[in-house]
Amino acid sequence: MRTLDSSTSLRIAVQKSGRLTDKTINLLEGIGLKFDDYKRSLIVKCLNFDVELLLIRDDDIPEYVEDGVCDLGFVGANVVEEDQADVTVLRGLNYGVCRLSLAARREDNLKTPEDFAGKRIATSYPGITKRFFERNNVDVEVITLSGSVEIAPRLEIADAISDLVSTGSTLKANGLEEVINIFDSETQLIKTIKPLSDGKKGLINKILQRIEGYQKAAQSRYIMMNAPQEAVPKIKTIIPSLKSPTVMPLADNGMVAIHTVVPLSTFWDVMEQLKDAGATGIVMLPIESMIV
Ligand code: ATP
Ligand code: ZN
Repeated sequence: MRTLDSSTSLRIAVQKSGRLTDKTINLLEGIGLKFDDYKRSLIVKCLNFDVELLLIRDDDIPEYVEDGVCDLGFVGANVVEEDQADVTVLRGLNYGVCRLSLAARREDNLKTPEDFAGKRIATSYPGITKRFFERNNVDVEVITLSGSVEIAPRLEIADAISDLVSTGSTLKANGLEEVINIFDSETQLIKTIKPLSDGKKGLINKILQRIEGYQKAAQSRYIMMNAPQEAVPKIKTIIPSLKSPTVMPLADNGMVAIHTVVPLSTFWDVMEQLKDAGATGIVMLPIESMIV
């Protein structure tokens, strides 16, 4: 059995059980890291890389990374900002997207930061909330709650709340209206600022490159189509491809097969234009990873 050398083995903090857990593990597995059952223990060794995961509460992740107990961490920007943790943000990851918003009962008609003056505001994010009102020179009373913040106005513990929102349905269900978005968040990959061995630095670079390829792939589609040879110049102008498309002759005289990669955001537009240009049998495939 291979033993882990603590100077080269990379320790990564991941939320133990919550909204980010499965998405983070899926990302790590998507870039080729293999793990035993990650639901059962606190430390999970990677089977094919010198990496181990430390599964902890998300609130603890910035501190563990700041102290160098973990080299990397996957955590919401909201938690990093709340703690004002001294860490390096390597990249945003497009999942766990949410915002910290001020919300109040509709009938209270609170609209601007000034309208909240003198109010009691319940939140699990006292740091971000206080700093928001300080920047706006508004005095409020911030009440820190660890959960179920949205029921605080109904219980008359607070006049308003500052809470994480993604769809807004929890607020609505509690008779609250989202008033001001004070912080936009997504999951981030953070790194310790403590010095790291060359082995760890190399591993981090590898992981980062793979994440980049994985994200590019998630945002791209491989498309294949058939078209008359004479349509190729027109088709080339439609495809905003990374490289020039592959064009192969077909057995049918004058027909070619074209293969290329397009950004997902342009896929439907591109497909309609290709059809108009004479392309037929257009097939779209997901891509697992891309090294560009
Ligand atoms: P833990 O037990 O680890 O402390 P938690 O209850 O604090 O868990 P979760 O509710 O699992 O945390 O949320 C984890 C992260 O998911 C949040 O910090 C935030 O970055 C992100 N997130 C995305 N959408 C939402 C949402 N609608 N409500 C709360 N968090 C969200
Ligand atoms: Zn938490």
